Amino acid sequence: MPLSQPGLVEVAQSVYAYVQPDGGWCLNNAGLVVDPDCVLLVDTTATERRTKELITAIETKAPHGPDYLVNTHFHGDHTFGNSYFRPRATIIAHADCARDQILAGPGLRGLWPDVDWGGTPVDAADITYTGNAAVHVGDRRVSLLHSGPAHTSGDTIVWLPDDGVLFAGDVVWAGTTPFCLMGSVTGSLAVIEELRGLGPRTVVPGHGPVGGPELLDQTERYLSWLMDVAIEGVARGRTVLEAAAAADLGEFGALLDSERIVGNLHRAYAELDGMPQGAQIDVGIAFAEMVEFHGSLPSCHA
Ligand SMILES: [Zn+2]
Repeated sequence: MPLSQPGLVEVAQSVYAYVQPDGGWCLNNAGLVVDPDCVLLVDTTATERRTKELITAIETKAPHGPDYLVNTHFHGDHTFGNSYFRPRATIIAHADCARDQILAGPGLRGLWPDVDWGGTPVDAADITYTGNAAVHVGDRRVSLLHSGPAHTSGDTIVWLPDDGVLFAGDVVWAGTTPFCLMGSVTGSLAVIEELRGLGPRTVVPGHGPVGGPELLDQTERYLSWLMDVAIEGVARGRTVLEAAAAADLGEFGALLDSERIVGNLHRAYAELDGMPQGAQIDVGIAFAEMVEFHGSLPSCHA
């Protein structure tokens, strides 16, 4: 049954997803892997209040809190709570995640100045990796897989091979519109194919309810459709906003935060124009056009 409040969902023995309904802007998921001698947390939340709720939930399973905190990517909804897990936790991220987290600083807060972010200092990883890495939580191997660019250039996929559990970060979405303005559309499609190859039984998306491999299919379907909209838009000489307005959302109209089509099209247009995956584009212009398309600032319930 879908949760109405943030809470833990057991996805394997002593492995939990922390799901924050409804999964819209800045309402992300986290993950928890518990062993008597070692605890690993995947991501935090956007605000002080929400991170304190996460800590309360963690304490019901692991009173001492996490020893390791893995950030799936640099976005503030996943990382603004990092400092609350000091001094016990060692923070681990892909090198590009830590770099981009420091570059972005508290920038996300400026997009939604009315949100009560609380005390959320930027606190980047202690240990960074490139390629892949692993953390051993008791007898459990927790694989940290990097590929892409996908949602960003520094995504980490957290994969528990013995349990078939995939913490996909924002590479995979459920019930909410995928978003890869800061990564790559084509790269996301390639990474989703790689994730399918792992054979996950359970997929914890970055936002929205826990599901199975069908979540990979759903995100892939949206991104493939988006690429078609971009190709047609370029062929007809449409601007991004014109292409977004002309697009028939079809089944994707039921997803939250549909205005992300504008940001996604900015990335798709750049890629069709030959820009390398993950290269910097003007996020400010894209966000302003998303607001224009939406007709007002999209709601953020962080
Ligand atoms: Zn994100």
